[in-house]
Amino acid sequence: MRLHRVYTDQDLQPGQEVSIRDRSAHYLTRVLRISAGQPICLFNGDGHDYAAEIVRPGKSRVIIAVNSRLPVACESKLQITVVQAISRGERMDQTLQKCTELGVQVFQPLFSERVEVKLRPEKLERRMKHWQGVVVSACEQSGRAFVPRVLEPVDFGDWLNQPGHGCRLVLVPGARRSLASLEIPGPLELAIGPEGGFSDVELELMVSRSVQPVSLGPRILRTETAAPAAVAVLQALAGDFA
Ligand code: SAM
Repeated sequence: MRLHRVYTDQDLQPGQEVSIRDRSAHYLTRVLRISAGQPICLFNGDGHDYAAEIVRPGKSRVIIAVNSRLPVACESKLQITVVQAISRGERMDQTLQKCTELGVQVFQPLFSERVEVKLRPEKLERRMKHWQGVVVSACEQSGRAFVPRVLEPVDFGDWLNQPGHGCRLVLVPGARRSLASLEIPGPLELAIGPEGGFSDVELELMVSRSVQPVSLGPRILRTETAAPAAVAVLQALAGDFA
């Protein structure tokens, strides 16, 4: 039987019981129809899995006994921050889901000139929660025990003025340098344009601030394809697919 992995934001200690509520309780009880005594795997983003066992199932609350802490070794040694210009609806979710599966550690959503999504404060809070949920689900599925961070969206100019986390790259169709030809120097940030791409002014500004334009080959990819494709190339270069 497949062992289900479930995320909780609680501290997990072997020998103690935890109570799982809301979305996860509903999923365990209604969708998976778990029963007392069934083994399960919990994780809380601290880099470990926790072997556990259902004590008491319930519609809104499930009691689980934590048995032991297990190491998980599936993180890439390459530190990647995906700086994604916010795309519409499910496209952004797909970027977050696929890039989490592929090992990205940080997401920086970006408001650039051609981003068509508007997020007022109350909507922004809901959207951030939703994005965090997408990332957590992708960790549950892919076996990751570290949960990538989804940072609060920033404006293009603010991002450009930040010091940056290592080498900065921007995906630009037709750029002279190909991503696949790079020697991976260490931690990096990878910027991806929205559906309409970055504007010429934004591209010029990036180049003037040492953000390196790189291409992903001869075809124009949708924005939600470009990020996972680029991350896959980077992980292959870094030996993560070995
Ligand atoms: N006409 C737009 C342009 O030329 O930028 C197309 C935008 S594309 C749908 C969305 C984003 O995906 C681009 O801004 C770029 O960051 C990335 N992208 C798509 N295909 C690419 C390629 N072949 N090489 C590099 N980046 C690409």
